[in-house]
Amino acid sequence: MIARTRQKKPKQCSVKGCKRANYCKGLCGLHYSRLRSTGTTEPRPKKICSVEGCTRPHHSKGLCGIHYRRLRYAGTTDPRPKTVCSLEGCEGKHVARGFCRRHYDQLIRAKRQQLLVSTQKLDLTPTPARTGQRQDSAQRPVSRDRVMTRRR
Ligand SMILES: [Zn+2]
Ligand SMILES: [Zn+2]
Ligand SMILES: [Zn+2]
Repeated sequence: MIARTRQKKPKQCSVKGCKRANYCKGLCGLHYSRLRSTGTTEPRPKKICSVEGCTRPHHSKGLCGIHYRRLRYAGTTDPRPKTVCSLEGCEGKHVARGFCRRHYDQLIRAKRQQLLVSTQKLDLTPTPARTGQRQDSAQRPVSRDRVMTRRR
């Protein structure tokens, strides 16, 4: 006797604790779509990165590994590329080491000054004078006066 055995369709979502109505395959709409997208009806772990739009799993201090590292190194989770001077309030275009031209120059100058001071402190003996070295050989500006001659 071949009879269509109609399976009893559950009226409710089969997920434990879920009382939503059955939508498909014994699951409610929510759980069905979750199963389709994530492969499980389990809710996502609540601990994910707190950065907006980031769904990576939580790593530390409410952030995913990437954002945690970014916060540590860059001081911000802001994903903005380093195209702007990192100095607060400065909108200068990024040139090097997170600074704009002006602030980078300042940094270099300060470092040089520090270096000068420290070397002066450390190195009291005068550097041996280099005799017999000509300095006029290098860095002579090559004049490139290739003026386009007009053809008449
Ligand atoms: Zn459900
Ligand atoms: Zn993140
Ligand atoms: Zn700057």
